[in-house]
Amino acid sequence: MKIVKTIAEVRAQVKEWRAQGLTVGLVPTMGYLHEGHASLIDASHRDNDRTVVSDFVNPMQFGPTEDLESYPRDIDHDAALVEAHGGDLIFHPEPEEMYHDGFSSFVDMTVLTQELCGLSRPVHFRGVCTVVSKLFNIVKPDRAYFGKKDAQQLAVIRHMVDDLNMDIEIIGCPIIREADGLAKSSRNTYLSEAERKAALVLSKSIFLGMDMVKKGESNCSAIIGSMKKLIEAEPLARIDYVKIVDCATMQQITTLDRPALCAIAVYIGSTRLIDNFFTEDV
Ligand code: AMP
Repeated sequence: MKIVKTIAEVRAQVKEWRAQGLTVGLVPTMGYLHEGHASLIDASHRDNDRTVVSDFVNPMQFGPTEDLESYPRDIDHDAALVEAHGGDLIFHPEPEEMYHDGFSSFVDMTVLTQELCGLSRPVHFRGVCTVVSKLFNIVKPDRAYFGKKDAQQLAVIRHMVDDLNMDIEIIGCPIIREADGLAKSSRNTYLSEAERKAALVLSKSIFLGMDMVKKGESNCSAIIGSMKKLIEAEPLARIDYVKIVDCATMQQITTLDRPALCAIAVYIGSTRLIDNFFTEDV
């Protein structure tokens, strides 16, 4: 397993693999890897001859008041995890390698980004689409792996790949959770002991919503109302949103009469956490 910091090194390695007729999977990450990331690496390792993991805290997808500076980083830990899960190459560039002086081209999307996280994080998806496009151009993978944990991101990437005719198969992987239900996230590390306990309201409300859907509830405001009530009972929690949207358009719906995504974003203290479920997975 190799760690490289330059685009030229990635390209040289992938060229060598291609000359041998090998297939390549890409797992884009911001590092501080956990079992959620590991599941994507496992999936790529299973489907492809070689796996590249990008490990880059992308400044462009953070808003001015967000946690770019404090975002956790630990490349040694990441390297051990990637190696243990069969990854072959980590691309760990400095911001200057990805965004040279005078950088001025962006990939943006006018649909799918107007709801959910797009509302509270206005520059986020432009940053995600731009960096993922760059990573696709640098690695030119056969397949790329994204977690359903970031459900809107997955939908946006699929849409971008379709719109821009990128010849890459996008694979969505299930949410990996802690034993008590909390979705694994690099940001969980920000939580104090009390906040870690309080953060359980996210998964509890997701499980409650899933249960209601399983039992046949199709009225979205009934589901949302019950989920909100559960979250609001936790003093350390502050809801950003609890919404149910059409999977294809990311627009809110009132009745579960088509494949839908129920997504939540909740502040626990100052840490913003997300979770979700797809009705199709219930
Ligand atoms: P991040 O490093 O947070 O940008 O995440 C990199 C990739 O890992 C994204 O595709 C995420 O959706 C995915 N991911 C993060 N947490 C989880 C999780 N708990 N389960 C599954 N995938 C995850």
